[in-house]
Amino acid sequence: MRRLLLALAVGLALAAPAAAVVYPVRPYDAPLLARAATPYEQIAESVAQRLTRKAAVVRCAAGHLKPGELGVTPFVNDRPAGYFLMAPETCGLLAAFRANPNAYDPEACTDTACLNRVAQVAMALETISHESYHLLGYRDEATAECYGLQSLWYSAVRLGASAQLGETLGSLYANQMYPSRRTSAHPEYWSAECRNGGKLDLRPKSSAWPS
Ligand SMILES: [Zn+2]
Repeated sequence: MRRLLLALAVGLALAAPAAAVVYPVRPYDAPLLARAATPYEQIAESVAQRLTRKAAVVRCAAGHLKPGELGVTPFVNDRPAGYFLMAPETCGLLAAFRANPNAYDPEACTDTACLNRVAQVAMALETISHESYHLLGYRDEATAECYGLQSLWYSAVRLGASAQLGETLGSLYANQMYPSRRTSAHPEYWSAECRNGGKLDLRPKSSAWPS
């Protein structure tokens, strides 16, 4: 039995690389995908894989995003290519959060600098959640953003936060940061249906929001 399992595992190991290989949608993504993941990227991949339950390749790279972009998930023929890229700052924030989640509790902040630091981390947690939904095939920005903010708490917990801190950060993003999307330079990230009981509510039977 054991031997059989081992044989099976070897078979899978031989077959697996084909499934794990992702092809660059843009030629300049090729060197990024060809190299091994850095420790920061491994952290990001572990979160994306738990959120999507799929193999996820994540790379943190400057120069692959447009100015102001925090993440991008390439699509081919309306299907995700299997990888996403995030700004190095975003990956750094996720790693800093994982090193000490409790340092990012907005309720412990006593000044604006602290709140800004926490808001940056909340945005990084939203970015990885948002891109993970793109990776699942949701291309629409408002949908990825809304599903992402409802899963932000989970990304936080995967990185070591308590459920309570995860929910606090999810609420911070949903209630304090998300509304400003409506009047931002990119209102396509905002939807009136992103609310408790709205069409984008992942748990319509629950009165809790966003998580
Ligand atoms: Zn997006």
